[in-house]
Amino acid sequence: MTHIIHRNPRTPLATAVRGLGSYLIDHEGRRYYDGSGGAAVSCLGHGHPEVADAVIAQIRTLEYAHTSFFTSEPAEQLADTLVRRSPPGLAHVYFLSSGSEAVETALKLARQYHVERGEPGRWRSIARLQSYHGNTLGALAAGGHQGRRRLYQPLLADVTHVSACFPLHYRRPEESDDGYGDRLAHELDTAILEAGPETVSAFIAETVVGATAGAVCAVPGYFRKLREVCDRHGVVFILDEVMSGLGRTGSYHAFEQEGVVPDLLCLAKGLGGGYQPIAAVMAHDRIVDAIAGGSGAFQHGHTYIGHPVACAGALAVQNIIERDGLVQRSATLGRYLQDCLRERLGGHPHVNDIRGRGLFQAVELVQDREGNRVFDPGLQLHARIKRTALARGLLCYPGGGTVDGVRGDHVLLAPPYTTTQEELQSAVDILVASIGAAIAEVR
Ligand code: PLP
Repeated sequence: MTHIIHRNPRTPLATAVRGLGSYLIDHEGRRYYDGSGGAAVSCLGHGHPEVADAVIAQIRTLEYAHTSFFTSEPAEQLADTLVRRSPPGLAHVYFLSSGSEAVETALKLARQYHVERGEPGRWRSIARLQSYHGNTLGALAAGGHQGRRRLYQPLLADVTHVSACFPLHYRRPEESDDGYGDRLAHELDTAILEAGPETVSAFIAETVVGATAGAVCAVPGYFRKLREVCDRHGVVFILDEVMSGLGRTGSYHAFEQEGVVPDLLCLAKGLGGGYQPIAAVMAHDRIVDAIAGGSGAFQHGHTYIGHPVACAGALAVQNIIERDGLVQRSATLGRYLQDCLRERLGGHPHVNDIRGRGLFQAVELVQDREGNRVFDPGLQLHARIKRTALARGLLCYPGGGTVDGVRGDHVLLAPPYTTTQEELQSAVDILVASIGAAIAEVR
């Protein structure tokens, strides 16, 4: 009898007892290849001794000091590291403990920026459909995931949602990448004009969409066009790279592949790599200068921000990523993984798309490829694939159904950057078998 409120109280869970490299091991000694890094978290795999040493050394030296009194060496060093690896201007860091907190913080920083500059009428946020920004009330309001929002709707702040960039399903047949990007930029422009630009604070988007739609990349030029619209209307441009950042897509920041720099950037999962619960918002000079030159105080804070042990763990993770060339490894192994998936599943009658960047890859499934008919969402094909893969020793991250305008079920793979080609090969073998078995169940 468990006293924990688990995600799904009716489904018994195995107990994870050990992590070793790319594998988790349960209480019965079963090994699972961590093909999704949990939820795109475990970028270094499990049980990395150097990270463990760094965490233990920090606890022995200084476990906690409240940030209203002190800063700490690991927090300062981690901030220096992030800034050094970021474009000029993105030079300030605010530490948090989760991705949702990072999103909430970014939305509040944007709002305060406007107030400090004498535009207190700016409060609205604009976000995109087919997006997930977290489960706290502000972050949930920004997300476009109807399934997660529905129950809490009366509690959620009023956020305007515009279309995400999802070319596979929503680019018109006659539209070029450029034309599609222009149409979406026009949609954002119209949403800002209709709301009244003097009321709009921020626009937030995932650079590569993760949980809700499965490694969906925008068409080239899209983010530049959206940034221009935001700049024209004085709207703060926030990118949420909680899932896609810090090497996951084959560049340190996912936005490097889009030719834009955000005003505010949300980071989390790959920051601590699962060794510590830590997140961050990186802020551009212009945001921090407005606050520093105005009231001088950001009206925000949590008890555990800049936690020395969390920062020491994350610093070790980021140093290892840099020292071992793991961003490049994510890019190279990501191409290999996509090739394997295409080779094995490219001709599959139910596989509609194989997509992604770096070690952030997804497979989308439909009932009928030609007519693009999806499986009945009630069948929960993606959840069945997760279950069958789990029974075969593979962790993958499922999502989809027709809710939220995400057409088709998908499975996301986000393995550790330290994985090997052989491990990826056998993960793809298991995934192919699991997709086959799950489809057989619903036929
Ligand atoms: N933003 C994105 C893009 C995410 O994928 C997630 C979590 O999956 C979050 C925010 C929320 O992060 P957390 O679960 O750490 O609160």
